[in-house]
Amino acid sequence: MIIALKKDAKLKDIDALTDALLEADFTFETVQGQHYTVLHILGDTTAFDGKKLYAYDCVDRIINIQEPFIRAHKKNHPNKTIITIGDVAFGSNTPVIIAGPCSVENHSQIMAIAKAVKASGANILRGGAYKPRTSPYAFQGLKEEGLQLLHDAAKTYNLKTISEIVAKEDLPYFDKYIDIIQVGARNMQNFDLLKALGKAKQPILLKRGFGNTIEEWLMSAEYIMNHGNNNVILCERGIRTFEGYTRTTLDISSILAVKQLSHLPVIVDPSHAAGRWELVEGLSKAGIAAGADGLMIEVHNAPKRALSDGAQSLKLDKFQTLMNDLTALMTAIKKT
Ligand code: PEP
Ligand code: MN
Repeated sequence: MIIALKKDAKLKDIDALTDALLEADFTFETVQGQHYTVLHILGDTTAFDGKKLYAYDCVDRIINIQEPFIRAHKKNHPNKTIITIGDVAFGSNTPVIIAGPCSVENHSQIMAIAKAVKASGANILRGGAYKPRTSPYAFQGLKEEGLQLLHDAAKTYNLKTISEIVAKEDLPYFDKYIDIIQVGARNMQNFDLLKALGKAKQPILLKRGFGNTIEEWLMSAEYIMNHGNNNVILCERGIRTFEGYTRTTLDISSILAVKQLSHLPVIVDPSHAAGRWELVEGLSKAGIAAGADGLMIEVHNAPKRALSDGAQSLKLDKFQTLMNDLTALMTAIKKT
């Protein structure tokens, strides 16, 4: 951290600042430049809120050199993190495909979708049972029964499961039925939930909040890791922009940014980003081409009758076609 002092800084203010730094156990060197005097703070400043030093009259500018996240940062973990669940590995050379309905609706629906996505080559079955809906009048999910139905369908077709948690009190049900716990965009900064998931035994799929920066997203991963769970999979699902044609704007650049900053695997959810099934195929390919470690795609056997997100769900045959195309794309990428 570097603190630039004001040109007209008074000695007594500078003394007060340096006393505060010493009190916080920092050492620093003073560099007398041509225009500015700067204090270069030595050592780890991660846990120190430098902004509060603006309270001192003599401070002109504070520049943070160190990133605020440590565990999620690549610098401290040069090798990619590979998260393995059975024979599925996030962060390996083969992208992982998560597919399934927005919500688990009933036994026959989830069985039909599980059968089809497995046949098309998906690895993990998704399905929401605790739904964070914008409207309190919309379908809220089948809760524990939904998790059980998801589990049973996945077991029948040899798939792993993922489902979204909205409250830490539900963790025992997830322990019983679910292989990967999803944190939705709306809960990305629910720090109490993140801390509880730091104690969970399952990997956590952490979606990016649609109003959050990449740094805030990685700081949320840091919360989970700091509380004991290093198995965090990041998921880009679109951010809110001025564009209204799509539900949100898929931020492809975040895949590349996360790869530069972090060792954690990152996947793409084109369905919630687009909000329209017609765009899902192209965005899936874009995500894989950009280097994503996998995809999460909403698939439904009868999108017109879906209880949530039918407009962005691929029909079973469309998903099959996409999977064929993705296989060709992955081969092409590997060759070049
Ligand atoms: C979901 O995956 O069902 C979901 C609600 O997604 P998001 O949190 O990205 O909106
Ligand atoms: Mn959905």
